[in-house]
Amino acid sequence: MDLLVIGGGITGAGIARDAAMRGLSTILVERDDLASGTSSRSSRLVHGGLRYLEQQKFHLVFEALRERRTLLRIAPHLVRPLDFFFPIHQGDRLPLWKLAAGVAVYGALAQFRNVGRHRILGKRGALAAEPLLRERGLQGAVIYTDAQCDDARLVIATARSAIQHGALVATHTRVRELIFADGRVCGAEVEDVLTGVRASIDARVVINATGPWTDHLRRLEDPHALPLLRPTRGVHIMVSRDRLGHRRATAFLSPIDGRVMFVLPWGDLTYIGTTDTDADDSPDRVRADGADLLYLLRSVNARFPGAHLTEDDVRVTWAGLRPLLSGAAGADASSLSREHAIVEGARGMITVAGGKLTTYRSMAAEVVDTALGKLGEQRPPAATDTEPLPGGETGELDSFRARGLEAGLPLAVVEHLLCLYGTEAAGIYNLGMATRSLFDLLHPAHCAVEAEVIHAARRELAHTVEDVLVRRTHLYYETRDRGVRAADRVAALLGREHGWEPARIAEEAERYRTFVAREPRTV
Ligand SMILES: Cc1cc2nc3c(=O)[nH]c(=O)nc-3n(C[C@H](O)[C@H](O)[C@H](O)COP(=O)(O)OP(=O)(O)OC[C@H]3O[C@@H](n4cnc5c(N)ncnc54)[C@H](O)[C@@H]3O)c2cc1C
Repeated sequence: MDLLVIGGGITGAGIARDAAMRGLSTILVERDDLASGTSSRSSRLVHGGLRYLEQQKFHLVFEALRERRTLLRIAPHLVRPLDFFFPIHQGDRLPLWKLAAGVAVYGALAQFRNVGRHRILGKRGALAAEPLLRERGLQGAVIYTDAQCDDARLVIATARSAIQHGALVATHTRVRELIFADGRVCGAEVEDVLTGVRASIDARVVINATGPWTDHLRRLEDPHALPLLRPTRGVHIMVSRDRLGHRRATAFLSPIDGRVMFVLPWGDLTYIGTTDTDADDSPDRVRADGADLLYLLRSVNARFPGAHLTEDDVRVTWAGLRPLLSGAAGADASSLSREHAIVEGARGMITVAGGKLTTYRSMAAEVVDTALGKLGEQRPPAATDTEPLPGGETGELDSFRARGLEAGLPLAVVEHLLCLYGTEAAGIYNLGMATRSLFDLLHPAHCAVEAEVIHAARRELAHTVEDVLVRRTHLYYETRDRGVRAADRVAALLGREHGWEPARIAEEAERYRTFVAREPRTV
């Protein structure tokens, strides 16, 4: 192999895609599922980051806004424009005029890549736009447009594109040790976590793209390696959208500490985030705690006083570690100012640390350039910015909608399929047309159909019930029982695809129930 990429989050998937498109023989290994780390625990925004403007990091915003445009183009089903409402109240650390100026600069930096025009509203306009907002002290608001994405499915689509270009992707495959020859890293010992089978992979270049696990892998290379990261924990909570009654995505300054927070629509649900606290948790067990919930609930209740949200309203929480750079260990100042660092370790492994979901594509290209440098080769850049991701061939889905309705599916199911699969919804329809029962719902309170499990197993590298219910169909987040009712059926369908015996099917369903029971809904 030319490249071994360790880590199947957005960073590793992006690198594998870029490398495979440039003709490098590439294998990606992920110890759990694609996107099972930070990349499915984000705020799901593809954005320039207004907060970077406060820090005058114009180049970062510019790059991120360029990437926003690119992602809207190559994955229109997964990355969608979203209007934001940003109110300012008396006492907020940012006056309305300054916010308005910032949003104007944001629009200017997007140049022709803007996705919508911003507007400034006075108090009356702001209240008309969001009637349930706290009226006392309200000064006005700014409306602007950014983008929201399905973070987990963006990773899966990126990894699948890598596969289409010849990469090998092995999920549930953990790197246990690195292999060295003449003191240089030249591969890794891996273990299939589901079967216990071990193997070794030789590679000319090994890339560590393990997000919050970065320093663990670096210590496999060099036990004395200094930490590159200083991760912080970010928590989101999900509630029923009607409990808040907001109309648009809302950004606001937390009255507790002045941080920018978001109230974001997700179908009939709303998620609220995020916290930002120093993390001493191991990346293996990141959880929301009581203080996180209190902070989020108090902040949002202060801005939507009629909501009176309590812990009982919280349907599900998720927590992730931001792989932020510590500013140590050989990351030079210029790479730090870009929020990510690409460093070569003492024995030749390339580590990429930091970054964000939005800018993964350009970061991946830089990593592959570095790998090519090590290989002593030059290859032209890959067309990762123009070639659509699977399902993203067009955002014009009217004919696909019509086909779903003709196939006899209810509109809500069709919309759900278009949202998750874009043009690949056609593949789901085909499965259901061939076997009608595959159009049956997986869960009475959700629009997902059985054919999606077959699609997930055949095309999206789903191996477990959790892979299907958490990161592919999202029943974990979107049903009150977190998908438990669908576990037996999903296990049976997966079993049919993977050739499992009845005992294994029962075991896999039970494993999912245990997983849900272990993840407290609230704390
Ligand atoms: C709360 C929060 C909100 C955020 N919101 C946004 C946002 O709205 N927009 C945005 O652009 N960015 C956002 N980010 C940042 C973004 O989510 C991350 O920068 C990005 O997901 C990191 O991806 P990654 O691939 O580097 O890491 P990860 O997604 O964590 O992937 C690393 C992978 O490596 C695997 N791995 C670890 N060890 C091994 C091993 N030994 N063998 C094999 N595999 C291994 C892990 O299982 C994991 O899947 C947010 C981050 C957080 C925490």
